[in-house]
Amino acid sequence: MARRALPARWVGSSASWAVEYAAAANVAYRLTLKPSAAFLYQAERYVHPMIREPIFSGDVVISGGGMTGLTLGLALHQAGLAVAVADAQPLSDQAAPEHDGRSSALACTSMRMLDAVGAGAHLRPYTQSIKDILVVDGRPYGGLKPGGPGPDQLHFDRRELSPGGEGEPLGCMIENRWARVALAKAAQEAGLIVFAPERASHMIENAAPGRAHLVLDSGAVLEAALIVACDGRFSSLRQKAGVRTLDHAYHQKAIVLTVEHEHPHQGVAYEYFMPAGPFAILPLPGNRSSLVWCEKPLCADVLGNMDEAGFQDALEARFGDFLGWVKPASPRWVHPLTLKFSERFIHERLALVGDAARGIHPIAGQGFNLGVRDCAALTDVLVDVKRTGLDLGAEATLQRYEHWRRTDSTAIGLGSHLLALLFSNDYSVIRAARGLGLSLVDKIGLARKFFMRTAGGHVGDLPSLLRGKTSNL
Ligand SMILES: Cc1cc2nc3c(=O)[nH]c(=O)nc-3n(C[C@H](O)[C@H](O)[C@H](O)COP(=O)(O)OP(=O)(O)OC[C@H]3O[C@@H](n4cnc5c(N)ncnc54)[C@H](O)[C@@H]3O)c2cc1C
Repeated sequence: MARRALPARWVGSSASWAVEYAAAANVAYRLTLKPSAAFLYQAERYVHPMIREPIFSGDVVISGGGMTGLTLGLALHQAGLAVAVADAQPLSDQAAPEHDGRSSALACTSMRMLDAVGAGAHLRPYTQSIKDILVVDGRPYGGLKPGGPGPDQLHFDRRELSPGGEGEPLGCMIENRWARVALAKAAQEAGLIVFAPERASHMIENAAPGRAHLVLDSGAVLEAALIVACDGRFSSLRQKAGVRTLDHAYHQKAIVLTVEHEHPHQGVAYEYFMPAGPFAILPLPGNRSSLVWCEKPLCADVLGNMDEAGFQDALEARFGDFLGWVKPASPRWVHPLTLKFSERFIHERLALVGDAARGIHPIAGQGFNLGVRDCAALTDVLVDVKRTGLDLGAEATLQRYEHWRRTDSTAIGLGSHLLALLFSNDYSVIRAARGLGLSLVDKIGLARKFFMRTAGGHVGDLPSLLRGKTSNL
């Protein structure tokens, strides 16, 4: 493939110049539509490693095009900022069924944001409303282990939030792979620039006055006033920036899979707090549910590697027969559970967003929801700063973002951490205390409403996108 040196500097006025320019310069930038991969697109580029002139120059560059990175990219692009996203993996791989077996409980406010960025319509055919949540301290009904369901149950009922009607659902469930497909389709429709597969190597904070560079493994450079790390809980940009994290290993692993069952779940999500960790049955469209089955690491590995027949027995024993027969409908994934909370969410010309800012225990299903709230808050801040012509990557800008996101992140992160510690043991005193706690909350309407509103994301000062409004320049 013939390569041509790029001219000394490209002066472009809009973000779309990067694609046009690369094509015109014959650097083999190919934007390939793959209808078979559900309209995902993949930009493949081969750039000479010695070339250091930016192939994109705009307002914001995002490292990581997972669920958080694409949500942020879409929000900023729609707001009128020049933004590009780089992800280490081809987007088509991320939508493959074997890529990520997790499903996510999305808060209502997160759905509003996904609607606002154009992904909602692609998402809805695959979502299941959560109508009720049943929290049980004990073992699933019908389980073979002694004990059965504990007497202390906590019922969250959507109708309580809007008496008289059916009420807004408490949230909705979506398989992550469909969320990724929906976001990728929205990105394609919006014309968001995505470089994938392109792994970010490092950033240069002050490559030029007011400008930072994201250097990719291929040698290509993306330039912006602000770099955003959406590269997950093991964020390499965070590590290279020297931002420390508060770490905790829960000595638990989550076995994640989808199951099919005989009877409809009626939109009920069940969370059983078992001695080794939570066991959640989360409703998906059809007679299917997503399981998050937490166990001690050794036990989880055994369950993860068990043959089909052995796992079927273990599943029936744990799940019980309250939904008739049950059988696996997907492969099994095993996730070690850890807490990784960043000391700061910002560094010089760098903002941490999503799991890069904090990866938390999935006990309350809030990890991605927090990431969506980061995206909405950062969008509001950047749009406001851009309007006034100030520096998007300045410390004052970044501090506004961090300040906005600190309290909510700490409250949810700490809350999930305490729940995980409190509900993952079998000490009789703690068991009695949490039983009392559950029945108390169950009896106090205000407390139930507080938890439902928090789970729905109706907390604190909501950014515009979470109120269903768009944020434009
Ligand atoms: C068992 C389990 C259940 C969960 N359930 C829920 C739930 O019900 N509700 C909820 O809200 N949350 C839930 N979560 C949390 C949720 O899955 C995460 O918060 C979410 O996936 C984080 O998304 P992200 O895009 O920030 O990070 P990631 O999904 O980790 O994506 C990071 C992206 O960055 C890319 N990348 C990495 N390094 C680089 C690099 N150097 N250069 C370029 N790209 C790079 C990767 O390819 C990837 O696409 C759960 C988590 C677990 C483990």
